[in-house]
Amino acid sequence: MQFGLTEEQQMMQDMAKNFAETEILPTLEEDEAAHKFRPELVRKMGELGFFGCSIPEEYGGSGFGFLEAVIIAEQIAKVSGSWRLPFNMQNHGPAVTVNHFGTTEQKESFIPGWVSGEAIGFFAMTEPDTGSNVVQMRTTATDKGDHWEINGQKMWISNAHTGDWGLLYAITNREAGHKGMTCFIFNPKETEGVITSAIETKLGLHCAPTGEIAFDGAKFPKDAVLGEVGQGFQICMWQLNNTRIGCAAGAVGIGGGATEAAINYANERTQFGKKIGSYQMVQAQIADMVAEHDAAKLLLYRAAWLKDQGLPNQHETSMAKLFASEAAVHAASDGMKIFGSYGYSTEYPAERFLRDAHSLRVVEGTSNIQKLIIAGISLGDSENRV
Ligand SMILES: Cc1cc2nc3c(=O)[nH]c(=O)nc-3n(C[C@H](O)[C@H](O)[C@H](O)COP(=O)(O)OP(=O)(O)OC[C@H]3O[C@@H](n4cnc5c(N)ncnc54)[C@H](O)[C@@H]3O)c2cc1C
Repeated sequence: MQFGLTEEQQMMQDMAKNFAETEILPTLEEDEAAHKFRPELVRKMGELGFFGCSIPEEYGGSGFGFLEAVIIAEQIAKVSGSWRLPFNMQNHGPAVTVNHFGTTEQKESFIPGWVSGEAIGFFAMTEPDTGSNVVQMRTTATDKGDHWEINGQKMWISNAHTGDWGLLYAITNREAGHKGMTCFIFNPKETEGVITSAIETKLGLHCAPTGEIAFDGAKFPKDAVLGEVGQGFQICMWQLNNTRIGCAAGAVGIGGGATEAAINYANERTQFGKKIGSYQMVQAQIADMVAEHDAAKLLLYRAAWLKDQGLPNQHETSMAKLFASEAAVHAASDGMKIFGSYGYSTEYPAERFLRDAHSLRVVEGTSNIQKLIIAGISLGDSENRV
C-alpha cells in the first residue's frame, strides 16, 4: 500500500494549482459577482489535458486515469468550486459515458470536442418534479419512424444554455419501468423545438451556469441514441457513479481551501493579546477540519484508484461523495466562525466556500441517496458495482 503521489501525479497537481492561482483566482471575485462563465477558460483547461485523464489517447485523452483527474479537479476546487464543474461536464459525465457505451462513430464525433473544451458538455436528468427518483421523469422520446420526437422539461441542468453537445435521459416506454428510459446525445443550439434558459437564483457556484431545457416536439435523428433503446437507466446509474467522484474531488478541494484559509487567519488574527490559533477551542475546530479533510481525501483517492483498476467501487464512491461533501460544509462553516465578522463578509472567501460546498450535498444524488446506496450494499441488498 502506498500513500504518496508519483512524480508525474505531483507534477499534475502542481500544474493544476498554478493554473487555478494564475488563471482563475485573479478575476474570480469580479467573475463571481457578474455570474460570469468563461468558455475560453474551459478551452485552456482542455489544452492542458485536464479533461482527458480517463479517456484513451485515440479520442484526445491522455489515458492516465480517474486518480489523476481527481488530483487536478481538487486543486481547481480549492480555489473555486465553480470551476470544478467542467470536470464533470467535459469528462466524467458525457465523455467517459460515451467512451463506455458509444459506437466508434459516436466516440470519434463527440469525445475529442468535450476533452479539448471546444464543445461545452452537459447531462440532463433532473426535472421540475423529478430529482432523486429519476425513473419518475416525465420527458418522453417517441419513435416516429424516421426520427425521435422529444417533449418535456429538464431543470437544474449545468450548462443548459451554454452547452453545445450533451446527454439527455428520456422515457421511451413508460410501462417498462427501469427498462423504459433511453439516453440521447444532442445539441440544444442546433435542434428546433429546444429552448434553454438560465437559472439566476443560485446561492453559489456563480461562475458555473445552470439552467432549464424545454422540449416541444424537438426532433432527434435515429442515431442520437447512446447505447440501446431502454438502456438509459443503466447508463444513468453508471454515469452518476463517475460524476459522483468529480463531486467528491470538488468537496475535498473546497474543504481544503476553507481549512487552509482558516489556519492562515488563525495564525494572523490576535485577540486578548494572543493569536486566536493559540486558543484551544479554535485549535479543536482546526483539528476536526484537518482530520476530516484528510479522511475525505483518502476516501476519494481510494475510490478513484478502484475505478482505475476496474474493480467494484460504487460503495466506496458513494462513501467518498457523502463524507467529502459533509466534511466540506463542516470545514466551510467552522472556517466562517474562525473568521468572525470577516467570515460574514463577501470580502473574504469563507462565505463563498460555504455557499459552494452546500451544492455538493445535493448534486449527483443527495447525501440521503448516498446513504441509501452505502446501506443497501452494506446490508447485502444490492451488489457493489464497477
Ligand atoms: C448547482 C446544481 C447543479 C445541478 N446540475 C445538474 C445537472 O447537470 N444535471 C442534472 O440532471 N441535474 C443537476 N442538478 C440537479 C440535482 O442533481 C438534483 O437537484 C438532485 O438530484 C436532487 O433532486 P431534487 O432537488 O429534485 O430533490 P428531491 O429528490 O426532491 O429530494 C428532496 C429531499 O428529499 C430527500 N429524499 C428524496 N428521496 C429520498 C429517499 N428515498 N430517502 C431519503 N431521503 C430522500 C433528499 O435527500 C432531499 O433532501 C443540479 C442541481 C444543482 C443545485
